[in-house]
Amino acid sequence: MICLGIESTAHTFGAGIVTNKGEVLSNQRSMYTTASGGIHPMKATKHHLLLCDKIINSALEEAKLKLSDLDLIAFSQGPGLGQTLRVGAVSARTLSKLLNVPLLGVNHCVAHIEIGKHKTKLKDPITLYVSGANTQIIAYAGNKYRVFGETLDIGVGKFLDTIGRFMGTGFPGGPAIENLAAKGKKYIELPYSIKGMDFSFAGIQTKVRQLIESEAYSNNDLAFSTQETVFAMLTEATERAIAHIGKNEVLLTGGVAANKRLTRMLETMCKSRKVKFEVCPRELSGDQGAMIAWQGIVEYSAGKRQKISDTEINGKWRTDQVEVNWIK
Ligand code: AMP
Ligand code: MG
Repeated sequence: MICLGIESTAHTFGAGIVTNKGEVLSNQRSMYTTASGGIHPMKATKHHLLLCDKIINSALEEAKLKLSDLDLIAFSQGPGLGQTLRVGAVSARTLSKLLNVPLLGVNHCVAHIEIGKHKTKLKDPITLYVSGANTQIIAYAGNKYRVFGETLDIGVGKFLDTIGRFMGTGFPGGPAIENLAAKGKKYIELPYSIKGMDFSFAGIQTKVRQLIESEAYSNNDLAFSTQETVFAMLTEATERAIAHIGKNEVLLTGGVAANKRLTRMLETMCKSRKVKFEVCPRELSGDQGAMIAWQGIVEYSAGKRQKISDTEINGKWRTDQVEVNWIK
């Protein structure tokens, strides 16, 4: 079985093709970026509309396949921005009708976890999912992916993007902050905001903004201190999740998983707890279509079917609301 997966929850329009053995045949994407400022939903939508057919064609070309070779179409049904989600949903419905093949809408966050498990061979991990919009500590328990800890305000990626914007970098700011931080030396104390298993970034964002505006510190030192503070928070909450839940594997995924400092902190913590730690391979950890295709295969193989009328997008579809039919 060959599945085309379409991703369009936010900044990225992606199309990936995956087999039922989990072989990624292609993974094409285009990310809406800006030289300055954050994501403008309408501009991101326009970007997706202009490029959707080109990306899908490139995915077919890369896989050396024709449209008629596809057996299943999967798309991100949520969570995400309503306008951008609709571009993927309409493309997927059209292809499914045209080719007369089944259509499945899948949850974007759960797709991040399943492709990570598949590629790292972890079986039952605690997942730290760190992306632009989402920051969650997730583990499977009682037939659902439960959220054991999460951000109370913004995602850590968006937080880093915003700090980057205050410092004058474009979108995405995360990689720029990582580069600045590598040159930082001095640790400036910032608010450390963990509430039970949850964490919050908005207050730290305000504080860093004030410090940038005060011009008392270099951006390098502020970027360094920002990373040290928020990554320590994420590591602390993940460590607590290990102690609570008693699982012995940790998976790191989402766009922010590309960050070497975060990876190193988690690695050190997991080692001291004798817990296996894996990072989802970089090309599959940010938003892309292959993870959506794989999630489609996983759910279809477990018997999930949808009518077109079931495929309405759900911008607020939470990880813990997903009916998990594929884990026995
Ligand atoms: P996603 O939404 O999962 O595609 O992830 C996108 C987010 O990942 C954006 O907020 C980026 O700033 C962030 N990101 C990408 N690379 C890095 C990095 N090296 N360090 C920190 N954040 C990053
Ligand atoms: Mg994501």
